Formats: sequence, structure tokens, C-alpha cells
Amino acid sequence: MMSFPRREPRHRSGARRRVGRPGGGLILPAQTGSAPRLVLKPGREHSVERRHPWVFSGAVAALAGEAAPGGTVALQSADGYFLGWAAYNPHSQIRARVWSFEQSEFPDDLWLRERIARAIERRRQSISIDVTDAMRLVHAESDGLPGLIVDCYADTLVLQLSTAGADKRRAAIVNVLADLTGCARIFERSDADTRALEGLPERTGALFGGAPPGEIEIREHGLRFAVDVVGGQKTGFYLDQRNNRARVQALASDREVLNCFSFTGAFSIACVAGGAQSVLSIDSSAAALEQARRNASLNRMDPARFEWMQADAFQALRTLRDQAREFDLIVLDPPKFAPTAKHAPAAARGYKDINMGAMRLLRRGGLLATFSCSSGVSEDLFHKIVAGAAADAGMSATLLDWFHAAPDHPSLLEFPEGDYLKGLLLRRQ
Ligand code: SAH
Repeated sequence: MMSFPRREPRHRSGARRRVGRPGGGLILPAQTGSAPRLVLKPGREHSVERRHPWVFSGAVAALAGEAAPGGTVALQSADGYFLGWAAYNPHSQIRARVWSFEQSEFPDDLWLRERIARAIERRRQSISIDVTDAMRLVHAESDGLPGLIVDCYADTLVLQLSTAGADKRRAAIVNVLADLTGCARIFERSDADTRALEGLPERTGALFGGAPPGEIEIREHGLRFAVDVVGGQKTGFYLDQRNNRARVQALASDREVLNCFSFTGAFSIACVAGGAQSVLSIDSSAAALEQARRNASLNRMDPARFEWMQADAFQALRTLRDQAREFDLIVLDPPKFAPTAKHAPAAARGYKDINMGAMRLLRRGGLLATFSCSSGVSEDLFHKIVAGAAADAGMSATLLDWFHAAPDHPSLLEFPEGDYLKGLLLRRQ
């Protein structure tokens, strides 16, 4: 039986922090059994001690024992302290992702069941079934389950596994989800491009209960949407914008609306439900716009209120300006321009361009709801970019509010990478 003491995080002063553990918390009897140990270089334990779940390859000194990709290792500091149980991946720059920071919480299948159950219970507490039957049940690191995303669309669950650790546990995850939720089926959409960074092939298909029956209809704030979980973007729908759509809906009465990057028209339909005079929706995807049209008719809305344009939004914003078109409410919800901070400068140019383009189409007193879903662009940076766009457009605007992801997409203080969706609500002076 291997044994090593648990290292406690340091205070800034350098003194070890005593946490409320039996025996003062410094040394616990170790129960790491025959688990392989991933030993960090001296001084590289600090971020894990602060409960950040990623260990980069440059922080690793050695692997003691043998571990397959996705296998569980005990993380150990250079001076022999236990740091956490983690999933190992020799093929990823993120060499290990922590499942649990507690030595007593070995991440076996029972542990997995409890973590997933806790995530689902939190959704039950924070989102009423009267509001929607579609929500994210598990949000990866932010629910203590790196690499695992589970979205629920009515009776169907869509699973996305993006790390070796989650991938290896597919069968157990499916069993637990089927058992805890009583869902009709589980479909896998592990086709995000981040899988390649983990050395994992794309994988999609039915895992439980057979293939989904075409599109799945969901409800959101009294509106109906058809979701293509097999072929749609991400897992089929942008659930994270649920509350922001409701907010924009409440502002849409009598307005002429422009919805850029409309996808399947969720903001557009919300605006018409909120009494908008008209909505011009722009997206580069013909399939998304087709679906958007079907969603409008699913809600028995007057087709005359909608105008659909398949175009590159960057270009379309210029064309609309040339045509001297103006709007009272503009939504800008582009795809991720900066997956990490490294991409921030290029992303900043993209955000500035479309925000300036949108501001130039906004009537006085008009509203702009502008979003970024880039982890690499912080709220602060996004604010600066949008302010820069307003300055260049020669426009003064009031910041009315901030937008964030809906509560089924939580973010942890200690894991800012999980805080990806941010937005500003502006009124042109
Ligand atoms: N607001 C949507 C989600 C938008 S997702 C909702 O609430 O459902 C981003 C969308 O931008 C996708 O539909 C994608 O097809 C589209 N897109 C990506 N690049 C684009 C471009 N250059 N011009 C127009 N649309 C683009």
C-alpha cells in the first residue's frame, strides 16, 4: 500500500493553511492502493492546490507506474503530497484533469454516479420544468466532471465527451444517465474539434434507446423549437442563451430587429413573440435558416414578420449600411472567435468589426445585445472591444446590463476558462 501525506495549500504568507480536517489536515492516511502516480515538478503544484483542474505537460516530472489514456492517476507534488485524483492523457497538452481533490474520494463508478446526480439535482433546483424541457444537465469542469457535457432535449439526452478521461468512462456514464433520468434515448455527439487535441477520433451515434426520431421538439419560455440533435451545431441548440433570449424578447415590442448569427432563429422568434414589427435574420448556414423558418411556423407566427438572409454577417453588415437600412434592436451572437487567450488579438478585431458595423445600423435610442462566447476573451476585454467599436463608430451608448450564460451553464471561481459567455446590453444615445 502506497502512502503519502496530503499537501495543504499555502497562504500568501507561505504558511500552510490548516483546513478543518481530522488531525489538523496536514497528514492523512493514504489509500492510493496501486494507482499510478503522476509526480509534478517542484513548485508546479500551486494551481492544483487552488483547485484548478488542469495539469499541463510542462508541469509533469514523471509518471510512476503505468496508465493508459484516460486512466486514473494519483497526482503528487514533488515533495510527496497528495493533490488529487486525475484522468491521465499522454496525448494532450493538458496531461491530467482532476476528478477529485480529496484523497478519500476515489473516482470510481459510484463516485461518478454521485457527481452526475448532484449536477442534475442542481438543475432541478434552479430551472423550472414550466420554463423549459431542454437544459444542460452536466457542464464539464464546472460540475466537477472534466470532458463531460450532457444536454437534455425533452426525452432525449445528448452526450459530448471531449477528454480521454470522460471517453474511457462512456459505458458507465450512459448507465448512470439512463438510470437517473429515465430518458428515452442517449445520443453521442463527440464531434467537437477539441477531440483532436486529446488524440481522440470523432464519434457520434446512438448509445441507448436507438436513434432519435428526426427532430426533437422542445419548449423554452412558452415557445417551441425543433432541434436536430444528430446534425445540428454543437448538440443541436444554444441552451446557454435561454434567459438572454427572454430578456431580449421583453425589449422587442414594436421594434425593427436585426438578428446576426441567428442559427435556428431562437432570438428572432423570441423577438416576434415579444411584439417586434419585423426581424431580419442573418446566418451563413442554409440548413440553420431552413430550420429557423420551420421553427417560426411551429410557433404559428406570421411569415411576413420574418426576413431570412443567408450571408456572411461581416459582409452583410456593410451591405445593409450601403442600403441605408436601420434597426431599433440588434442582436449579435457570433460563434467562438477565440477558444483560448492566445487567439484573443485576432478575435478582438473580429468583434470590433461586427460591433462597429451593427452600431452604424442602430437608430438613436436603439438597443444592441452583443455577445461573445470566447473563453479567451474576458468580460473586461469584451467591454473594452465594444467601447472601442462605439468610439470608432462615433457613437455614445449607455451600458444597460450585462448578460451571462443561463444557470445550467455554471462557472467556477477557480476555473475562469469555464466562464465563456458574456454580453452587453447597450442603448444608443
Ligand atoms: N444566436 C443563436 C446561436 C448562434 S451560433 C441562438 O440563440 O440559437 C452562431 C451562428 O453563427 C451559427 O449558426 C453559424 O452558422 C453562424 N455563423 C458562423 N460564421 C458566420 C458568418 N461569418 N456569418 C454569418 N453567420 C455565421
